[in-house]
Amino acid sequence: MNLILFGPPGVGKGTQAMRLAATHDLLHISTGDMLRSAIAEGTPLGMTAKGFVESGGLVPDDIIIGLVREVLESTESKGFLLDGFPRTLEQARALDDLFRELAIHEVRIVMLTAPEQELIDRMVKRGLEQGRKDDTAETIRHRLEVYNAQTEPVKTFYEKSRGVKLVDGLGTVDDVTARIEKVL
Ligand code: ADP
Repeated sequence: MNLILFGPPGVGKGTQAMRLAATHDLLHISTGDMLRSAIAEGTPLGMTAKGFVESGGLVPDDIIIGLVREVLESTESKGFLLDGFPRTLEQARALDDLFRELAIHEVRIVMLTAPEQELIDRMVKRGLEQGRKDDTAETIRHRLEVYNAQTEPVKTFYEKSRGVKLVDGLGTVDDVTARIEKVL
C-alpha cells in the first residue's frame, strides 16, 4: 500500500502518519520533519530551507521535489506514506512523473479536514507545548493562506485523477485513526 496523507497545517497529518506507518509497515516520508532535521543539523539544505520554513512559506519546488525523488528512488519494495508532500500543483505533477518512472501505480489519497479555527487552536497549543518556530499566531495565519492558495488546488487535481478519500479530522486521535482505517 502507498499513501498520500493530505490536508491543511495543524489537521493532524504527522500524528496519524506515524500511527499508519507503524500499523501498515510503511516508510513515513515527512518533508516537514526532513526539513526540520536539516535545519537543526545546519546542513546546506537546512540553511536554504530555514527562512522559508520559519516564516511559514514554502521551500522552492525544485529543492523539495529533488529530496522526495531521492527517498522514493531508494525505497525498495516497502510501501510509503507521504506526509506534507505534494503541497503545490507543480509538486503533484512532478510526483506523477516520478510514479510513472518508478512504475508505482497503486497510490491512495486520504485528506484530513477540520474547520480553520480548530487548526489555529491546535497549532497555537503545539507552539506553546513544543516550541515549533512556525507555530506562532502570525506565521500560522500565513501558512493557512499559503495552504488555501497553493495546496488546496492539489485536492482538485487528485479528485480528477486518482480520487480522494475525505476523513473528518475532529475528535480524539484514536477516532481519527479509526476513520482512516475504515476508508482504507
Ligand atoms: P504543517 O503541515 O503543520 O504546516 P509540516 O511539518 O508538513 O507542517 O511543514 C512545515 C513547513 O515545512 C512548511 O510550512 C514549509 O515551509 C515546509 N515544507 C514542508 N513540506 C513542504 C513541501 N512539500 N514543499 C514546500 N515546503 C514544504
